[in-house]
Formats: sequence, structure tokens, C-alpha cells
Amino acid sequence: MRNLVFLLAAFLFMEFVAWFSHKYIMHGFLWSLHKDHHIKTNQNDSLFEKNDLFFLIYAIPAMILIIAGFINSYPYLIAIGAGITLYGFAYFSIHDVLIHHRLPVNLIINKGYFAALVKAHQAHHSGKNIRDFKNYGLLIFPRRFFKE
Ligand SMILES: [Zn+2]
Ligand SMILES: [Zn+2]
Repeated sequence: MRNLVFLLAAFLFMEFVAWFSHKYIMHGFLWSLHKDHHIKTNQNDSLFEKNDLFFLIYAIPAMILIIAGFINSYPYLIAIGAGITLYGFAYFSIHDVLIHHRLPVNLIINKGYFAALVKAHQAHHSGKNIRDFKNYGLLIFPRRFFKE
């Protein structure tokens, strides 16, 4: 039970980490890696984006935590690692599959939380230069997107 709390806390904390790093790092000094997610050119019609490197960056600490948890039998480390990993899966399913259609799955959701989430992320993509973007989070976004 306590490990479930660790798992959920890690998951929620990752939304904060994702928001923070998206706003201050990816749209900051690592813009060179995130740029191809926003600006499509003919050269980058490959399956992967440089932006995908960020999944690896988050996967590494999660793997280290899980491995360390198993080696030292600290279940809470495994729970935290699992929370980070679950967030990664949720982020990929929502951001890359539902919003950006990177897998041949076409889910259309026109009302409720996920429809509002898609609109909020599309608002992020409506920015034109490195600074005028909005909504850096994914799962948590301003309530106005439920109405618009
Ligand atoms: Zn962005
Ligand atoms: Zn996006």
C-alpha cells in the first residue's frame, strides 16, 4: 500500500518534472533537441525526432532506481522507478499516439478530459518562436480548455 503511494507520487511528480524541463530546458538551452518536434522540415520526415532522446533521458534514472531497488531489496525504489516508467508510457500514449498520431492508431475523442488535453497541447504547438509557446505540461492544463 505504501509502495502504491510512492508510485503515484512519482507519477505526479513526473508531470511537474515534464512541465519544468519542457519549459526551462527543452524551450531553453536544449531547444536544439526539441525544435524538430515543433518545426517540421523535409529533412526530418524520418520515424524518429531528436526530441525522442528525452524519453531515454527519463528512462535511465527509472531503470537505475528499479535495478538498485531489486539489488538492495528496497521496494520503494522499485515503486518510484515504476511510477516514472508509467508516466513515460502515459506520455508516449497520449502525446505521441493520441495527439501526434505517430503510430497507425487513429483515436478521435471529441469530449471530456482527453479532448481538452489535446486542445491544450495543440495550443502549445501554435507558438511560432522559441518563447511564445504556452502549456508546457501535458496532463495538467488550464481549465479553460474544457470550454473552448
Ligand atoms: Zn515544446
Ligand atoms: Zn507535441
